[in-house]
Amino acid sequence: MRLKKLEMKGFKSFAQRVELGFETGVTAVVGPNGCGKSNIADAIRWVLGEQSARSLRGQKMEDVIFSGTDRKKPQGLAEVTIVFDNNAGMMSVPYQEVAITRRVYRSGESEYFLNRDRCRLKDVKELLMDTGIGKEGYSIIGQGRIDELLSQRGEERRLLFEEAAGIVKYRTRKEEAEKKIKQTNENLSRLKDILLELE
Ligand code: ATP
Repeated sequence: MRLKKLEMKGFKSFAQRVELGFETGVTAVVGPNGCGKSNIADAIRWVLGEQSARSLRGQKMEDVIFSGTDRKKPQGLAEVTIVFDNNAGMMSVPYQEVAITRRVYRSGESEYFLNRDRCRLKDVKELLMDTGIGKEGYSIIGQGRIDELLSQRGEERRLLFEEAAGIVKYRTRKEEAEKKIKQTNENLSRLKDILLELE
């Protein structure tokens, strides 16, 4: 699966709409200090569902919205769209091109879209499971991440291998099913108590 395009508007230093095409052969982004290289990596992590403002180098989520300069007014919302080539079908949706969009307003309200249709963060997470590009994925290795991985306990490191092996989806479904079974058993025992009281 290949990253094809990134569109940003009102995100951090990108006040105006900026479109970056990642054609085959693009391997690096270079530029002077402070020009926004790390903001591009932040935009990718953010649109893929990052919930921690601190890991995006901010205090609160609204900090990703363009805050204005001497010449430009602050923006009211930030929007990022990432486009993947899904020809190999790694994402289980019937589209050859998958566009994920995230929008956040100053009120803190957040919205997600999948190929322009509104969806939930849960849908985005499920779509990215086992592709290696989700939050627990290995497609973005930040500074210090390798050291962190090496010093992690075996069980923690296992999560990364599970993602690579493509079994996260099944583990998540199993956990959800177990939760439902537990809840159903609790409901059944409550029902039994009520029946006993009525007898
Ligand atoms: P370096 O090479 O030094 O690591 P860089 O190219 O990675 O730099 P970034 O860290 O991506 O640069 O960008 C930093 C710039 O982004 C700063 O000028 C900062 O003021 C600006 N910036 C960050 N958040 C916002 C925001 N919400 N609104 C406006 N500008 C922002």
